[in-house]
Amino acid sequence: ASKEKGGNIAQFFNESMRDRFQQQLIIENALRQVVDCGCGFELFYQPKVKANRVTGMEALLRWNHDELGPVSPGVFIPVAEDNGLIFQIDEWALYQACKQNKQWQDQGLLKIPISVNISAKHFQQDMLVTLIEKVLTDSGLAPQYLKIEITESVFIKDPEHVVKVIEKLKSIGVLISIDDFGKGYSSLNHLLELPIDEVKIDRQFIEGIDLDPKKGLFVNSILDIARGLNLNLVAEGVETEWEKATLEEIGDFELQGYLFSRPVDMDGMERYLYSEITNFSQYYSDN
Ligand code: C2E
Ligand code: MG
Ligand code: MG
Ligand code: MG
Repeated sequence: ASKEKGGNIAQFFNESMRDRFQQQLIIENALRQVVDCGCGFELFYQPKVKANRVTGMEALLRWNHDELGPVSPGVFIPVAEDNGLIFQIDEWALYQACKQNKQWQDQGLLKIPISVNISAKHFQQDMLVTLIEKVLTDSGLAPQYLKIEITESVFIKDPEHVVKVIEKLKSIGVLISIDDFGKGYSSLNHLLELPIDEVKIDRQFIEGIDLDPKKGLFVNSILDIARGLNLNLVAEGVETEWEKATLEEIGDFELQGYLFSRPVDMDGMERYLYSEITNFSQYYSDN
């Protein structure tokens, strides 16, 4: 029924089955097919910007299913975490991201790091470090161009093991970023005690920061800590000029959000990178 009406997933589920369990099963089966045939996923890229120059990019998965239509990672990542498919999915994204970033560098485009989201589930395993070493070797990407984004939920289960994994990743030269900081289970302790390189302030504190002094206070205090610890600070989900202006008044952030660019496909990101070096060639004489 969904196909005739345009294959919209929300519509599909509202009409035929309200049961979350059913929805989970359908997505699970569809995901299995994707993972088996290695098709259906696409990696998108969203630039990160500082002082109006692009300084990094985040890789974000997109999945357009023949019948379900586009399914957002917010929906399928939790399903994949439940059934273990997340390991293959993260591995695919990691390979794709590293190969693509290396290729752009080889084309003479900017040498800037790529951020890849890795599920907390991966940090409970020993194989992550080996996997990342293998991906770096196979792609030829230098480790300082790979940034791994983890959310704080990673520390709920077996934190000692997680810290060991992070330390091993640091020792091979990969960068570590804490994603969605301030959302849900958060602790300043993590910033003080972990060998991390970056903190991304969750969009809930950025949205309307120009209108809400409390959000400004929160962001300011994180900035103080980040400065003291020499961490890169990212503001997620910047959508308006007013939010940008307010953040620039507070301090030195890397900015990411629809204001600069939505996540775009490989060609879109390549065009973005080309226009950067053309418009600002005097800044990029290294390339
Ligand atoms: P995230 O890592 O926090 O990614 C940021 C999300 O915010 C992305 O949603 C992005 O499209 C969205 N976003 C960026 N700028 C703006 C803005 O200005 N306004 C608003 N409203 N949203 C903005 P997306 O792509 O739907 O991804 C959702 C989450 O799914 C990600 O959150 C990440 O946790 C997860 N995810 C995506 N790709 C992967 C992956 O390859 N592996 C894993 N494990 N998780 C992934
Ligand atoms: Mg992220
Ligand atoms: Mg985030
Ligand atoms: Mg987020």
